[in-house]
Amino acid sequence: MASLPLETLPFDDVTDFENADRGFIGALVPGVVEGAEGRTVWDSDAYAFLKADCPDTANPSLWRQAQLASKQGLYEVTDGIYQVRGLDLSNMTLVEGERGVVVIDPLISAETAAAALGLYREHRGDRPVTGLIYTHSHGDHFGGARGVLPRGTEEGVPILAPAGFLEQIEYFGDGYDVAFASHHWPTWGRENVVTFLSAQRDLYAYMHDQTLRLLNDGLTGPEIAEELQLPPALENSWHARGYYGSLSHNVKAICQRYLGWFNGNVATLWEHPPVELARRYVDSMGGADQTLAKARAYADSGDLRFAATLLNHLVFAEPGRTDAKEALAGVYDTLGHGAENGPWRNFYLTSAMELRHGENAALLDTANPEMATALTTDMLIDSIAVRIDGPRAWDEDLTIDLVLTDEGSHHRLTLHNGALTHRTVTDPRTPAVLTLTLTKPQLLAVLAGRAPDSISTAGSPALLSRLFSYVTKADAAFPIVTP
Ligand SMILES: [Zn+2]
Repeated sequence: MASLPLETLPFDDVTDFENADRGFIGALVPGVVEGAEGRTVWDSDAYAFLKADCPDTANPSLWRQAQLASKQGLYEVTDGIYQVRGLDLSNMTLVEGERGVVVIDPLISAETAAAALGLYREHRGDRPVTGLIYTHSHGDHFGGARGVLPRGTEEGVPILAPAGFLEQIEYFGDGYDVAFASHHWPTWGRENVVTFLSAQRDLYAYMHDQTLRLLNDGLTGPEIAEELQLPPALENSWHARGYYGSLSHNVKAICQRYLGWFNGNVATLWEHPPVELARRYVDSMGGADQTLAKARAYADSGDLRFAATLLNHLVFAEPGRTDAKEALAGVYDTLGHGAENGPWRNFYLTSAMELRHGENAALLDTANPEMATALTTDMLIDSIAVRIDGPRAWDEDLTIDLVLTDEGSHHRLTLHNGALTHRTVTDPRTPAVLTLTLTKPQLLAVLAGRAPDSISTAGSPALLSRLFSYVTKADAAFPIVTP
């Protein structure tokens, strides 16, 4: 934020802008993708404001990145390889073969994926999709599969999701012509590609190894995050800037990966939870008015970080104080406006919104039927287990067997001591009180609360509703920066 060496960044270097425009064929005009009932799913025209110079309410480095990332259209990467960029969070890559086209990463929603494929076909002809590749398991890389392969057209089309492909970075040796990925614009030319990938390799290795070195010296996550600096050569590479992760964020995550929450300082072993802690802090500060005055003084002096800490305690201690909430929202506005890290900006500004208007319901619903279809039976049962209301189920004791005819598997579910556990059984010695014999699609229907007639039931069917009576629904709208 204030300490960012923005003036040292190479704003004169326009290579990224040239690369982001290179190979442009055509855009979707207007750049709006609509879903059912005219609902706007994606609106790339809404980013037109980025054509202006960076205002005071944004970090210039992040603004530049947003200008690059908001470019929209179909681009030729190299002979036979195309990308649709700017029609979703991620890129759709299309590789032409003899029989059709292979799609790499079908975006986040069926609507944007269909629009991207439509844009490609408008310029490259109506080639059939002959394969799908998901680069990794994030929702923005597979969520739109149905837009590329509508129901009924997937027969015989292979779908690949490779594991560990990042370990391959030496694998191609001298064979690089162009590097393109699931986000952002490509890098052309062997030398540029090698420079780019080497810097990315060094960035992650440096961050990881130096964090562990300092961890072994006894520093904690926040201390390392404050102390660690990237080598100037990486610090000044646009593609190594912290637009998504950042040094401060990732260093703490690396510590979390190795040591977990406990840092060895026993003062943190048995702390009060946030509200109880906050009440005692505010009391020790001499009350709410004193705390607010002190926080405002810190904010005025430019120490927004400590102002946020004080005001956070005050809001948790006295959530009815709208003046405290507004003061904290103002601090988060300023921190958000200065942030180079996009997610940090979003977290700060969304938090300010929660302080002013209450919590927001999550818009992204991952519990959709497509997602459920993709889960294995074990995963499906696990997804039920983590929704059991434990205390209500303390005294319950029930056993249900699921015989999956299409998978040839036999699962035994046991709800006991409030925990739903399951195992695969080959030769059950004792019969379950209820046995359902069904297919995986029928199981999905049962879990969705629809009981198809055609499943075979042995034992007491009432057991199923007893099990479901303990299953809760997650609350998508919980407060985060207010108690
Ligand atoms: Zn992604």
